[in-house]
Amino acid sequence: MRRPLVAGNWKMFGSRAENAKLVDELVQASFGGGVDVVVCPPCAYLWEVGRQLKDSRIGLGAQDVCAEAGPGAFTGEVSAAMLKDVGCGYAIVGHSERRALYREDDALVARKFVAAQAQGLVPILCVGETLDEREKGVTSAVVARQLDAVLGLAGVAAFARAIVAYEPVWAIGTGKNATPDQAQDVHAFVRGRIADRDATIGAGLRVLYGGSVKAANAAELFAMADVDGGLVGGASLKSEEFVRICAAAA
Ligand code: PEP
Repeated sequence: MRRPLVAGNWKMFGSRAENAKLVDELVQASFGGGVDVVVCPPCAYLWEVGRQLKDSRIGLGAQDVCAEAGPGAFTGEVSAAMLKDVGCGYAIVGHSERRALYREDDALVARKFVAAQAQGLVPILCVGETLDEREKGVTSAVVARQLDAVLGLAGVAAFARAIVAYEPVWAIGTGKNATPDQAQDVHAFVRGRIADRDATIGAGLRVLYGGSVKAANAAELFAMADVDGGLVGGASLKSEEFVRICAAAA
């Protein structure tokens, strides 16, 4: 039985005051025992948000991590060791905004995955196709390529300590989510790709859906057999909405 997980990606939003209010409301909320909840604030706020979450059951994640272990001369970068040091348990790697806006390729994403795990962080590996790729019918090929880069570098055993998030690029921040059937198809493909190499690891892998998840569509998405929760962007910035999404996963 896979335990559902909902992670909030705050992207580059928020301020100290806004975060304090949001986290306060999340900490007050009761998520019940049936779901893991994680928030991923901007790097500058990780320590402070982590302090506020200290006695709660809500986990802390980073939105990205440096591929280099460091320490070293990598101006602007933040290592996995530093993220661990400020209390992170998770790190998103390969978010489509990083892939598209900062030209992160599959090989770099794989190195970030390995760097995160080397420090005991759980990588949340994002995969997903663009609209053009979906329309060309190459969704599976794209997702396979993204997964295989990590499998090639880290090996299948690494997926026992990782999470995959299927995030169709055309659904992120657009208000247009994948249908439950579209999500299920790709989630089953992801699980199958891992299970082909190790059936137990494939069966236990948590595969999150991300892309315009809201309280209004969460339950139908999370009801699908291979959807184990969500990676939530915009809706994770509103406490009431995010709590309802977490409740739908529980
Ligand atoms: C995301 O940032 O990973 C995301 C899925 O965003 P949104 O929920 O806003 O589409």
